[in-house]
Amino acid sequence: MAKILKEKPSYFDKFVCTGNTTCKDDCCHDWVLPMDMETVKKYHEFEGELGEYVRSNIFEENGEWFIRLGENAKCPFFNENRLCEVRVRAGEKAQIKICDMYPRELNIMAGHYRLDRLIISCEEVARFLYTDTKDRLEFVREWTEDESVKEVSDELKDRVEKLLAFRDGMVEALQAGAFDISLFEAVDSGEELGKLLDDAIYFECHERSMELFAKARSILAQVDEIRRDFYDSISEAKGWMRRTAAYFAHRQLLDCIQDEKMDGVLASVFRAVHVLELLCLARFHEKGDFDLEDMIYCAHIYGLNLEISMHNINLMKEVRNSAKDEEYPDGENSMLRPFLYP
Ligand code: SF4
Repeated sequence: MAKILKEKPSYFDKFVCTGNTTCKDDCCHDWVLPMDMETVKKYHEFEGELGEYVRSNIFEENGEWFIRLGENAKCPFFNENRLCEVRVRAGEKAQIKICDMYPRELNIMAGHYRLDRLIISCEEVARFLYTDTKDRLEFVREWTEDESVKEVSDELKDRVEKLLAFRDGMVEALQAGAFDISLFEAVDSGEELGKLLDDAIYFECHERSMELFAKARSILAQVDEIRRDFYDSISEAKGWMRRTAAYFAHRQLLDCIQDEKMDGVLASVFRAVHVLELLCLARFHEKGDFDLEDMIYCAHIYGLNLEISMHNINLMKEVRNSAKDEEYPDGENSMLRPFLYP
């Protein structure tokens, strides 16, 4: 039996999907969702009309099963009440696991450490990030014992502890404003940010994303001027960006354990802040103003396109020229990352 250190953001347990009430951009569209085999089996066992209904909306490719997109690229099970029809008819256990889990990323592992988190591709999560945390991100930690896990070596445990201490220190420093100069002056030139945007993969069927990224691409030549204006006129902007940087650092620095290198991972934190900042600047430039709702919106669009794509995460780590041709194994227990559509 191993001792495990578990961590989650303070707002993790407060999150409730608001898909059938206030959520503006439900996630039940445009994803070609992979099914877990337990649910595939269940769908093949359903009898009568329910069986026909579920089976006519799924397909198999190379041994894997997916949900077929319906009209307007909507999930065929999304009903007029904005609820999952399979869940309504057959209970919550009939929903595929990925829908039940999203937008949570569970059990991200590093040695004896386990992280559960929420990803900002869901606008409601972005709302928690900027509203529930007051002026700083907080995390809840607890030690537990897990019979199914083998004790890790002392050497790995020691390395993980050191890395966590480094990461936590950086998260604190970012929140306290220790890096404002490097945070608010782009680490990449406009041209380099442009190349990164060109190489990224987008959620292309999502109109709102494409519009905002096109605007961001179009302001690159004037970005320094817009940035100055942005921080001069929006008093909360620096605080939001510090919170954003702390959020990215908390998650992305863990990759040092797998990557065994710091440079790309550190660059990815600052690059992520700058790409999200660029979306904010594009929004600000267009509206002539910027408020909390804009911040939440931009974070959500960033998350939807950049944060859930392994390809894009690796672009952030400076593997820009080769990333398009490489395949990245999903070694982090995330069932979501490889399935950015298309
Ligand atoms: S985007 Fe978030 S709140 Fe909206 S339906 Fe999806 S999980 Fe629920």
